[in-house]
Amino acid sequence: QAKDIGGGEHCRFEPVLHASAEERRQLEDSLRKALGLDEFVLHYQPVVDARSENVVSFEALVRWNSSEHGFVSPGKFIPLAEDTRLIVPIGKWVLRQACMEAREWPEEVKVNVNVSPEQLLEPDFHQDVVDALAASGLRPERLEVEVTESIFLRDASIARNALEQVMALGCSVALDDFGTGYSSLGYLRKLKFSTIKVDRTFVQGAAQGANESLAIINAVVAMAKSLDMTTTAEGVETAEEAAMIRNLGCDKIQGFYFGRPMSNEEARLLFRTRRRISA
Ligand code: C2E
Ligand code: MG
Ligand code: MG
Ligand code: MG
Repeated sequence: QAKDIGGGEHCRFEPVLHASAEERRQLEDSLRKALGLDEFVLHYQPVVDARSENVVSFEALVRWNSSEHGFVSPGKFIPLAEDTRLIVPIGKWVLRQACMEAREWPEEVKVNVNVSPEQLLEPDFHQDVVDALAASGLRPERLEVEVTESIFLRDASIARNALEQVMALGCSVALDDFGTGYSSLGYLRKLKFSTIKVDRTFVQGAAQGANESLAIINAVVAMAKSLDMTTTAEGVETAEEAAMIRNLGCDKIQGFYFGRPMSNEEARLLFRTRRRISA
């Protein structure tokens, strides 16, 4: 197929590089068709209260079962969707689907939805949230949008406006993967996040005895408290890690220890059997 691309320039590329460019092009073609083919599904990972261990929320995590490539991980297709702006329609679908499915859960359980910068910065974003809430009948207070620090690297004031509009609807906003981005802390003064999610790398670091990670978690918890925000620790995989995190004063815990991402059917079953999931 190399010849089809034309130009004769392809012979300069290493075969391995060429293969990955070709693979990327094919993946992009499939991604473009994926929504129409109904190839996405949402899985949900529980977020539990650190003390009671009650499920307080489920984070929606998109899964792509491609007819051409099989299962493709979000770590692979989300960056591609962001580069190609396909994340805008995909993200819109995720938002609506998550609200629709959450509508059937117990009233006190929230749903967390990840939103990429490209999606947040779209002028239609606010309307998409309004529509998703209206179509599902989900109370705005039950929707929490997750964004990463990367939204502030580009059009910080547009991002801030978009988030304030969503907050004005009654939704909450969480700051995801905190501590792994490159932005300053200044925006924490200006935006009222409900939750700061401490990235898994710090949790894993602290669990392995790294004092730096421990110090950072301590500092984030203290900062969040004084800013009247809550904290969620990501990536908690063992009972020991859960105990450590609880002792550090994190409010909520998410990770394989309390539950892997599961189908909506499994999530609903979990509500019917046991609300409290101590592993
Ligand atoms: P994230 O938002 O930080 O989501 C948490 C990721 O960590 C999920 O990976 C989850 O399965 C994984 N995880 C949770 N607990 C543990 C644990 O105890 N140990 C380990 N090793 N991993 C754990 P996943 O589902 O592969 O998603 C990866 C990323 O893709 C997400 O990171 C998020 O940034 C992005 N993503 C997923 N769904 C969406 C979506 O609908 N829209 C957008 N824009 N991004 C999404
Ligand atoms: Mg997230
Ligand atoms: Mg995260
Ligand atoms: Mg993370």
